[in-house]
Amino acid sequence: MKRRDLLKTGLAGLGGVAAATTISAPAIAKERMEINMVATWGRDFPGLGTGAQRFAQRLADMSDGRIVVNYFAANERVKAFDSFDEVASGNAQMYHAAEYYWKGKHPGFAYFTSVPFGLTYTEMNAWIRFGGGQELWDELSAEYGLKGLMCGNTGVQMGGWFRKEINSVDDFKGLKMRMPGLGGDVLAKLGGSPVSLPGGQIYENLVSGAIDATEWVGPWNDSIMKFYEAAKYYYFPGMHEPGAMLAIGMNNEWWKGLSKADQLMIEAASSMENDVMMSEYNAKNGLFLDKLVNEQGVKLREFNDDIYDAFGEAADEVFETVKSHSELANRIHESFVAARTSVGAWAKLSDQAYVRQRNRVLDL
Ligand code: CA
Repeated sequence: MKRRDLLKTGLAGLGGVAAATTISAPAIAKERMEINMVATWGRDFPGLGTGAQRFAQRLADMSDGRIVVNYFAANERVKAFDSFDEVASGNAQMYHAAEYYWKGKHPGFAYFTSVPFGLTYTEMNAWIRFGGGQELWDELSAEYGLKGLMCGNTGVQMGGWFRKEINSVDDFKGLKMRMPGLGGDVLAKLGGSPVSLPGGQIYENLVSGAIDATEWVGPWNDSIMKFYEAAKYYYFPGMHEPGAMLAIGMNNEWWKGLSKADQLMIEAASSMENDVMMSEYNAKNGLFLDKLVNEQGVKLREFNDDIYDAFGEAADEVFETVKSHSELANRIHESFVAARTSVGAWAKLSDQAYVRQRNRVLDL
């Protein structure tokens, strides 16, 4: 019997699994692949930078070294905010960033990091994976020659560092504050002056007085930045980034040319980082919050309800502007709102109701 006939018999007689083993037995030479990856984070910056680097290393390890990832932190190949063009143009294959840095290209990108009054980590994952979020993200990214995937999350962010107490909406008037994304637009509606700065430039601007206040991430990251040296009041919770998702953005033509196996490997590595980074933030934020308060004399403050009501009204105005930008921006917004309503209703009587009762009974 010839080999070809044997294979046919195998397919018919032994079932799919055995047949597949027979067919795939000859080793298929896999080509080495090199990926140039740029990032908006400084090298080794805890959480964001180390998470992006961990993803890059994981991808290389998963491929047993067949995929070589040349990782470039901010300014090592291009400036942080030039990452988008570097990948869209095909000069690099991949970036790791927060998509809301590109809201100037299209406001729809903001929704794929976080928007004011937006989604928490678990709500975001539900929207992206099962609520139509990924499909809309793909449609938006494709307009710029890109393909995005979830690759990290910081969770709920703090409201920011202020030199003075914020007791009323009037305290935002004239306030120069580092706040990117649509949160910055909300601040502007309240009379503030939002500034978008990469992480590496915030401290010097805060110390010199070029800005009056800043948000960044949360206790772990913020304590490393030493913002407490220039501003003692640390406000919570941040309305602007309730679950900031990080992302990889890939050159879409390059992505489409990959084998299904390579696409799956990248998806698996980035999905894992989405989870691992969130775990790390949750594990470390509590520890560093304690250090900030007890070792650095940081004063914790909660935004009052009047301020939050004003945030809400301003956010509605910002969203009206976004929706009128384009048909696609409107569809992204409506899809986001639908997810916030339905997933949020479930979160309210599951996670939130449970944690509220647990903490009340145990006095946590
Ligand atoms: Ca932030």
